[in-house]
Amino acid sequence: MSMAKFQLQLIKEILQEYHKNYEHHRCSRSGNNYPTRLTGRHFPSVHQSGKKNRKRRCVVRAVSGVRRESMHQCQQCNVGLCVSPCFEIYHTKLHY
Ligand SMILES: [Zn+2]
Ligand SMILES: [Zn+2]
Repeated sequence: MSMAKFQLQLIKEILQEYHKNYEHHRCSRSGNNYPTRLTGRHFPSVHQSGKKNRKRRCVVRAVSGVRRESMHQCQQCNVGLCVSPCFEIYHTKLHY
């Protein structure tokens, strides 16, 4: 076997292995510690409580030390969030 062929074979095997691991990772997604906020389907909704719209503290802003209230929330996560940009940040970044 020539060196070039050998290398090609090696690369193929590595790719196959990588692919297997990737598939495995995808299948066992529910078993790992990925927070559901990054994997589920989440939509912003207006936080309503009784007659009056009550505002909730945005959790993303709270982390950076800013007190800011938002009328919106994520129902799935049950947290207050500004629609933009915090809603996206919260659901796409592991560490916001
Ligand atoms: Zn959410
Ligand atoms: Zn916010």
